[in-house]
Amino acid sequence: MTGDLDPFSYKLVKHPEVDLALLQGPVGQLAKLGQVLWSMNVIPWIKDEVGHFRTAGNMAMRLSAAQGGGFIMTGTEVDKANLSAHSVVVVHAIDYKKGEMIIAGSLRPSREVIIADRLFSAFPDMHVMIHVHDGTILLNADVPTTQKVSWAATLRDGNEVVDLMKQHAVRLVNLRDHGQVIAGKDVQDCLQTLIRTHTTSLQHLQVCQV
Ligand SMILES: [Zn+2]
Repeated sequence: MTGDLDPFSYKLVKHPEVDLALLQGPVGQLAKLGQVLWSMNVIPWIKDEVGHFRTAGNMAMRLSAAQGGGFIMTGTEVDKANLSAHSVVVVHAIDYKKGEMIIAGSLRPSREVIIADRLFSAFPDMHVMIHVHDGTILLNADVPTTQKVSWAATLRDGNEVVDLMKQHAVRLVNLRDHGQVIAGKDVQDCLQTLIRTHTTSLQHLQVCQV
C-alpha cells in the first residue's frame, strides 16, 4: 500500500535534465541556509541505521514555473553544510498510485521528500521546508507531535504533518523522538520559526525544572 511505502522504495523516473543555470538562485539560498543550520548545531553528523555517517536534516524549496516547476531538495547523504548544484535533486512530481518519483539529478532525494511534497501541495504560500534535529524543541510537549516514530517519512506521515499544521495553525511540528519539520514563506521565515520555537522551548524547560 503506497500510504506506508518507504520513500526509498519508490521507483525513480528520470525527467529530462534541467538547466542548472536556472537553479543557481535557489541552490545558493539553500547553501547559505545549510551553513546557518550547521552553525546552530541542528544538522549534526549522525550515524544512520546502516552505519553511514551523514549530516542530519534536509531542505527543500519550491521552484517557479519559469524555473521548470516542482521543487529542489537535498540529496541523500550529501553534506548539507556545503551544498552545491550537484547536492540537490529536482523533484517534478510524485505519483503515489504508481509509487514513482519523477526527478532530475543523479541522487535520491532526502528521506523527508514526501513531507516536502505534501506541504507544498497543501500550502501554496509556503515555499521552503526544512527538517532539523533540535533536541530542545523535541522535549517541548506544547509543540504538536506526530503519533509514531519515523526516520523515513511515508505518505501517511506526510499527511499527518500537514494535518497537525492545519489543526494547530502552526508551521513547525515535532517528528516524534526524531526532529522537526518547518514550513515557511521563504528561508528567513523558516529560520525565524525555528529560533522562536527553540527559545520558547528553552524557557518552557527551565520553568519545568523550577
Ligand atoms: Zn532527521
